[in-house]
Amino acid sequence: MIVVMKPGASRESIDHVMEKIESIGLISHPIFGTRRTVVAAIGDKHGRTLDDIEAMPGVERVVPILAPYKMASLEVHEEKSVVKVDGFSFGGVRIGVIAGPCAVESEEVTIETARFVKSCGAVALRAGAFKPRTSPYAFQGLEEEGLKILARAREETGLSVVTEVIAPEHVELVARYADVLQIGARNMQNFLLLKAAGEQQKPVLLKRGMSATIDELLLAGEYILSRGNHNVILCERGIRTFEDHTRNTLSIASVPAMQQRTHLPVIVDPSHATGHSALVAPVARAAVAAGADGLIVEVHPHPEDALVDGAQSLDFRGFELMMKELERIAEAVDRTM
Ligand code: PEP
Ligand code: MN
Repeated sequence: MIVVMKPGASRESIDHVMEKIESIGLISHPIFGTRRTVVAAIGDKHGRTLDDIEAMPGVERVVPILAPYKMASLEVHEEKSVVKVDGFSFGGVRIGVIAGPCAVESEEVTIETARFVKSCGAVALRAGAFKPRTSPYAFQGLEEEGLKILARAREETGLSVVTEVIAPEHVELVARYADVLQIGARNMQNFLLLKAAGEQQKPVLLKRGMSATIDELLLAGEYILSRGNHNVILCERGIRTFEDHTRNTLSIASVPAMQQRTHLPVIVDPSHATGHSALVAPVARAAVAAGADGLIVEVHPHPEDALVDGAQSLDFRGFELMMKELERIAEAVDRTM
């Protein structure tokens, strides 16, 4: 349920509404918009009606929230949310490109890639220090040493760092080094990890699970929001289907479909969606045309030598070309790169 306050309602009346909500055992989350404030009441009402709140000073109306997710819903927050990562805002007019190798392999490759993607206009560096691999024999990542390399790449280039966290007990460690915590497809429903990421304040990039519906992705986001972290960016990276010409199947429609349900920024990962470097730029263009707020793209100086995901990594020339092409697409949809 949400309590929609009248435009210009006083802080005192908002506080009273929150106290009333809490007094019946619900949790109240105020959302301060530019025009008006709404207060979300979350929890089990145990059959109690909340009609009397409608009579309270400053209250315009009380409406049930129909979506199973509450705080992530557009019903609660009609304005698009902007998630700030250093100086950059995901969800604004400018499209944010996060780029870098799949994994932190070495300081040399990481810094060389960071310098190059920055020169092409990327706003953040991606690379995993903890890799969730399908095979236990595959490269698992450099772990804390990888996080240190990422921190040095940030010092060298000024780029923000986006890196994956795979376990709740690592959240504090990863948050010490990263600017954005990535929660990967394989962990989208690791509820303890979602809760831990919600209990700290670094932005979270939450990727869609391999077989998750959009509602399940939004409910996973809700775990983070409901723990107090409002800085959530959603990422469409395709899902597993019977089709095998691409690594995963990306529905471009999921971008506007998500944006019709949530105020959270939505970005697209054309690398994991396709699995083939030759398909990355065309899908990235389609994502921007469909309204994506950003992209996360794998780039490697020598994809043929990459320890992880070389086949879907762009080389430097490919990334540079993609960024140039995207400028024209962005302009056509009133966005900038
Ligand atoms: C990644 O970004 O390298 C990754 C493992 O992606 P996903 O979780 O989408 O498979
Ligand atoms: Mn990868």
